[in-house]
Amino acid sequence: MPKNRAMCTVCATIVGVDESVAEYHKVYYHLCSEQCKETFLAHPSLYTGKPGATRQVQVKCRMLKLNKAMSTDEKMVTSDHLMHLVGVHKVDIKGSHLYVTYDLLQITELQIEKALEEAGSKLGGNWLHKLNRAWIHYSEETELDNLAAPSTPCCNHPPPGSSKPSR
Ligand SMILES: [Zn+2]
Repeated sequence: MPKNRAMCTVCATIVGVDESVAEYHKVYYHLCSEQCKETFLAHPSLYTGKPGATRQVQVKCRMLKLNKAMSTDEKMVTSDHLMHLVGVHKVDIKGSHLYVTYDLLQITELQIEKALEEAGSKLGGNWLHKLNRAWIHYSEETELDNLAAPSTPCCNHPPPGSSKPSR
């Protein structure tokens, strides 16, 4: 890699070394965008493993209910906007249903919702859809927290709630 280039800690995009940088435990990490910086700072330990370690992926596919069916133009604008986000793999809009596939380690559903708002789209649905979204935010946050936690327990006792049989 050329001297003045570095790899984004979150998504592995090549960036200029002077671009966005975050400090964690006195080490500087390069990040390609505000989005990657936000993702990194939320759970730094997920991205600061051994250099060259296999990059983890947590692919999610969600359906988001929009407040109305989209026209062909709106579909194009919206999916184009989402596809430019780091971590979004696939966007498919059918009527008022938006299907999005993304890597949770690079973007959360909450960030996708924010981006949708920026693109001028509104989420809709009934209370059940709203409850479901709130549940997704919570479960993604929990999943990331669990992934960020050390994987090996420090003693022989499994943590409470663990299903591992004790020896
Ligand atoms: Zn990045």
